[in-house]
Amino acid sequence: MPKPNVYLFPQWKDNYGYLIKNPHASEGILVDPCDLDMCLKILELNDCKASHILLTHHHDDHIAAVSDIKKKFNSTIVGYVKDTQIPSPDISVQQDEVFELLGHKYHLIHTPGHTLQHVNYFMPDHNILFSGDTLFNAGCGRMFEGNPEIFWESLSKIKELPGDTKIYCGHEYTLANINFALSIDPKNENLIKLSKWASHREKEHRPTIPTTLSEQLLSNPFLRCDSDYFLKHYNCQNPVDVFAKMRSEKDSF
Ligand SMILES: [Zn+2]
Repeated sequence: MPKPNVYLFPQWKDNYGYLIKNPHASEGILVDPCDLDMCLKILELNDCKASHILLTHHHDDHIAAVSDIKKKFNSTIVGYVKDTQIPSPDISVQQDEVFELLGHKYHLIHTPGHTLQHVNYFMPDHNILFSGDTLFNAGCGRMFEGNPEIFWESLSKIKELPGDTKIYCGHEYTLANINFALSIDPKNENLIKLSKWASHREKEHRPTIPTTLSEQLLSNPFLRCDSDYFLKHYNCQNPVDVFAKMRSEKDSF
């Protein structure tokens, strides 16, 4: 099966939704739809209907349009079996389950931290990750329900994916994330480079998504909690303590 196209589209204030569609296909998969008008627009632009809806977590800005889309297209909702707050899935997926949709494999990775039942979807044949509000470009999601230990463990799972994995996340928070990252890691050349690029993209009103895992490993401070630099910076013995300090610092930045 050839590589699917992933179409990014803006939703509400700073959310991103995605349409995954095979070339020339008449149906596609929507990821985290909240803005009905924008969802209908991206489907119309690509001349397809939403056969499936993939959900990363239960927050309103990731699920608000699900019932309307399902009503219109009779879409199949796919979600994590343990997330009881998402709109009731037609296909409930287990942790680490690999399943197939429209000819492509998806691996469900449980990534608690932002919420306890948050999941990511990884496409192992194409190295594409839908990271929801777990990992952002140059940052990570707020820790609403988890604790530093499980959030760091979730990020560690993502760190193990192939370096060329393309990461499609739930929000455009990149510039704000970079401002914080530079405040704690000002001499990081990769971060400085990313900062220049992201500012340029903003001026052109273009998204900074997707990013790649290898780029994030070099520039995203939340993936570098186990680096010598941050262990020393926060005077900690382990990455979990670094993550705890970094996350709370970012919350009040
Ligand atoms: Zn969220």
